Amino acid sequence: MIITVLLVTATLVARAPQDTLESSAARRALADVRFLADDRQEGRGVGTAGLGRAGDYIRNAFARAGLQVSFQDFTIPPDAPAVLHTTLGGTATRNVVAILPGRSPALRGEVVVIGAHYDHLGLGGFGAMDADSTGRVHNGADDNASGTAALLEVARELAGRHPARTIVFVAFSGEELGTLGSSYFVQHPLPQPVDSIYAMLNMDMVGRLRSARLLALGAATAKEFPALLDSLNTPHRFDLRASGDGWGPSDHAVFFATRRPVLHFFTDLHEDYHRSTDDWQKINGTGLAQIARFVADLAWTLANRAGPLTFVDAPRPQATAGGGSAYGAYLGTIPDMTGSPGGVRITGVRAGSPAEQAGLTAGDVITAIGAKVVANLYDMTDALRSHQAGDTVVIVVQRGGAEQRVTAVLGRRGS
Ligand SMILES: [Zn+2]
Repeated sequence: MIITVLLVTATLVARAPQDTLESSAARRALADVRFLADDRQEGRGVGTAGLGRAGDYIRNAFARAGLQVSFQDFTIPPDAPAVLHTTLGGTATRNVVAILPGRSPALRGEVVVIGAHYDHLGLGGFGAMDADSTGRVHNGADDNASGTAALLEVARELAGRHPARTIVFVAFSGEELGTLGSSYFVQHPLPQPVDSIYAMLNMDMVGRLRSARLLALGAATAKEFPALLDSLNTPHRFDLRASGDGWGPSDHAVFFATRRPVLHFFTDLHEDYHRSTDDWQKINGTGLAQIARFVADLAWTLANRAGPLTFVDAPRPQATAGGGSAYGAYLGTIPDMTGSPGGVRITGVRAGSPAEQAGLTAGDVITAIGAKVVANLYDMTDALRSHQAGDTVVIVVQRGGAEQRVTAVLGRRGS
């Protein structure tokens, strides 16, 4: 035991100050996740005292960092598709907004928004993937206590500085009910009208960094983004996958719909997604702190660079156009969100799922389901929507360079 202690001491002495900074940031970020994803916060469902406590915690953290902070109150629209069959319509909730004023007279009217949603699924039910867990607390440690903690860390890092453009930090409510907090924000932005938003950076599910693999979705929404991300990443050394348009199932899509450049930072899907097992013990605190530093660097660069960003639009994908909640029959694959040419690569299958029973496995690239060719995630969603629970389908996959066919009996999604 003594040997261990000596080694640890030696390591600490030899470490550069940067590492010490990083590990204290990691501890802080993990403490934030633990608070937000504690059972006492009741899964941060809209309308709960737990979400109220989470909001107070975020406000206090912003204020301690030295930022101007306020609540932005709004009510859940009763006609939002996700709340039609619930009693949540008309419920009061709030975004938490903190402002770091820009100091350049010419540029301070432009705003870099950094956002993360802090609500989650509460006690399961709507939106949960585990059908039998209604009534159990869904802590949402990765989704999205992780992004909220990273947001607070970015705020602590930037709060003492003086950017040219204004930086606005927003913890959104109502994301899990259909990006309601971000929709309210773009209609009632503080402190500037939406035309002046220079770019929006979203962190949603950034707590599971594995093999340094970080997704920057939306990199195609500004011509300047790919080169900028690439050069900023040099000292950070992420395995950075920067790609895609701004349509995605989180708050950044709302800003993209108003024609602003957006980026969504994401450490990819996993088996605990929208399940009661998404707990703080599975969060990579060091990774979280590293991502926060990277996003802080990026926000700082965007807030100070000369000239506009060149926005690049993209058509709204069919699969999300209706805003409906019908995802079709259940297969139970975990898709690789970075995409792969000519199909959907999967990073795993859910335990006990039709995909597992059919023998699908990590690394398979799905190229067809039933009669439908699957070139991307949208095709896959369409294919599953065209089937019902109980249907038997042939699934074509590429595995180790060879084409294979498996048969799956599709299931019903937990609702
Ligand atoms: Zn979610």
